[in-house]
Amino acid sequence: MSLDDRLSTELAEIAAAGLSRRRRVLASPCGRIAAVDGREMLNFASNDYLGLAGDPGLARAMADGALAWGAGSGAAHLVSGHLEPHEALEQELAAFTGFPRTLTFSTGYLANLAVTPTLAGRGDAVFADKLNHASLIDAMQLAKANGADVQRYPHNDVGALKRLLAASTARNKLIVTDAVFSMDGDLAPLPALLALAERFDAWLVIDDAHGFGVLGAQGRGSLAHFNLPTSPRILLMGTLGKAAGVGGAFVAGSATAIDYLLNKARSYIFTTAAPPAVACALRASLQRIAGGEALRRQLFANVARLRSGVATLPWTLPASITAIQPLIVGDNQATLDLAQALWSRGLWVPAIRPPTVPRGTARLRICLSAAHTPDDIDRLVATLKELA
Ligand SMILES: *Cc1c(COP(=O)(O)O)cnc(C)c1O
Repeated sequence: MSLDDRLSTELAEIAAAGLSRRRRVLASPCGRIAAVDGREMLNFASNDYLGLAGDPGLARAMADGALAWGAGSGAAHLVSGHLEPHEALEQELAAFTGFPRTLTFSTGYLANLAVTPTLAGRGDAVFADKLNHASLIDAMQLAKANGADVQRYPHNDVGALKRLLAASTARNKLIVTDAVFSMDGDLAPLPALLALAERFDAWLVIDDAHGFGVLGAQGRGSLAHFNLPTSPRILLMGTLGKAAGVGGAFVAGSATAIDYLLNKARSYIFTTAAPPAVACALRASLQRIAGGEALRRQLFANVARLRSGVATLPWTLPASITAIQPLIVGDNQATLDLAQALWSRGLWVPAIRPPTVPRGTARLRICLSAAHTPDDIDRLVATLKELA
């Protein structure tokens, strides 16, 4: 068997299980309408929660930034790739989140890989929620390869976490959690997790990919939603490609913790800094987020409209106050059929199946945005009712 033959065999197995992945090519910018295969699809698939990805003001900031600062950064941040727009963005993110210091990354995946494996090695322990995002799971595996003891606790089970922490003799302990779980839209019990972190002298690593820009006063995120203070034991990761509409991520924390990451995190050190124009667009985005109460009101009105609309459907919509609204269908094929039926009616709602979610909980992951109109929500609800 040739190398390619081996891969083909495995790909055939994936296809036979109905799990082949493919991409759809969009002939339009990210927005409420996506042009795909010559059709106009109403888009419930993107994480562009505030509708900023296609915003002309941000595009202009990026274009002006490129004209002023060039197309690329030319090197990693620690070499010669850290330009004034990068520095200004970090300072503005620190002021916005209330943490002493931040560090920016090209993607959230890289930001997550920077935190857990850098803070946890031999003699340390990581306690991770079972439903954490894949990037946090990979970060946990790297920490494990560095010699850390890693344990996963049942989803949002504060009691189980407390027992694990109480039994641990590790030098450094890290509690690692999504703030808004990406497949369910539910929130981590951050006040209880912070209390445990304080009681057991642990770090609390929070992935706020879906809370940043959306939750809390001015869209400051999940900590603001819970009225939690910043704390030197918190490391907060936020992505900048979702509500912020551009791309990249940041980690916020104490000045010491951030300096430590800057000195030691491999996914920070060994990669080229994002183009400075991206930082220029993000500075504009931060302004839009801070002044974006009207956008958030529109988003939450859409959430309420969807939730009341689907209340009578045969599928369950678990509690979620966020832009992520999972409609649990259960059966894999039934979920695919439903997504396909919506697609054929011009509605793009992704089907999510195991292993991304637990067996028997295949679902439609409805992503809402401030860009959706009430009519868009009504159209989705009416079509779901017709298909029910
Ligand atoms: C999207 C996401 C990430 C990764 O962020 P990128 O910027 O897309 O790499 C990390 N964590 C969670 C929970 C996410 O949803």
